Amino acid sequence: MSNPAIKNLCTFIDAAPTPYHTVDASIAMLSTAAAVKLEEHEPWKLEPGTLYYVTRKPAGLIAFRIGTERLSGFVVAGAHNDVPALKLRLEKKVIQRGMERLAVEVYGGPILATWLDRPLAIAGIVMLKTNQGVEQRLFNSVKPVAVIPNLAIHLNRDINKGFEYLAHQTLLPLVAESEGANNSWIVRYLARELDCSEADILASDLSLYDAEKAFLFGPDEEFLSSPRIDNLEGCHAVLEALCSARTGKQTQVSVLFNSEEIGSRTLEGADSFFLRDILERIILAQGGTREDFLRVLSLSFCVSVDGAQAWHPGFADKFDETYAPLLNKGPAIKLNANMRYTSDAENSARIVSLCKNEGIPCQLFRMRADLPSGTTIGPLTTSTLGVPGVDIGIPMLAMHSARELAGTKDHEQCIKLIKTVFEQGV
Ligand code: ZN
Repeated sequence: MSNPAIKNLCTFIDAAPTPYHTVDASIAMLSTAAAVKLEEHEPWKLEPGTLYYVTRKPAGLIAFRIGTERLSGFVVAGAHNDVPALKLRLEKKVIQRGMERLAVEVYGGPILATWLDRPLAIAGIVMLKTNQGVEQRLFNSVKPVAVIPNLAIHLNRDINKGFEYLAHQTLLPLVAESEGANNSWIVRYLARELDCSEADILASDLSLYDAEKAFLFGPDEEFLSSPRIDNLEGCHAVLEALCSARTGKQTQVSVLFNSEEIGSRTLEGADSFFLRDILERIILAQGGTREDFLRVLSLSFCVSVDGAQAWHPGFADKFDETYAPLLNKGPAIKLNANMRYTSDAENSARIVSLCKNEGIPCQLFRMRADLPSGTTIGPLTTSTLGVPGVDIGIPMLAMHSARELAGTKDHEQCIKLIKTVFEQGV
């Protein structure tokens, strides 16, 4: 039967359709673990053994537990909280012959065909005008409000040979029969749901998402079908490991970066100073100096957690079987000669050895040698900090589909691996 870790992951994913909601759900987890909230603009006073968290808008979060030895280094586990999606263009009204659709823009690299003929809900943030200025509201329709209908096969007999969906034309979801209204359906809908006037809606960052919840299947519930496994599995793993870890000598840090799917160059992405700033402040707030901070970095370690491509029985020729991890056989260390993943020989060896000692199953992932590799927050995080590390991730199928697939046993092992790194170092 399935384990509690995978059930908790399903609840987490269902509560987190966008990075904003992921930060919200993460704060709920951290609050249950009695974490103390910090603000970037206030001075900090930090105590060993205490769990803290700090957020950076729009949707970054760093949580940490101060270690017992101030100069013994950081152990960092990171994951990205953004997902490929279709984002809404709020101001644009698209009505043809009374059929209203929403204008969209593609975020990251989704498998577009998987978004069609599927119940879609809407979530994100809406900025409202108030008497005091501007207010941010978190929004989630929860129920499906849109569908992107395919063209009948009778009008496109070759559709099963591959078809290009155009973001400005064929990917627009149908939402209403509309006549004569001033504003688009989405503006009218949001005003009603948020109990404000249509004119008060100033801006938004809203995405469509698969309204069907995560579910487990198989005779022994061995598989998870869910949206956003890449990379809410990683987010949940780094937070769960941190919340459940014992205080160690080193300060334990979990970071959720936004914007990985679009290159990480935002103020709370992996290609920013977010993590470096917070780590330095952790040293300074304990009475340390900048020299102490730089010394501590040289004693630190980083684990980047992101999904790995599992071996797919329907596309076996796409893989090098020696390096094609299987579902439910444990997290994989991700390797690439061109360092698209940050794992090098020494640090991979440390993780392999740690897994052997702890009885954690562990696999290796490499792309087939003639195919280009994806990348993660790993290389950016380790290079901007000057800290060694590894890339790991649970094996998964259908990465970047509106609905992805993973094994139900790997999440628990992934948490165990990160927790062990937090408690023991490497
Ligand atoms: Zn990812």
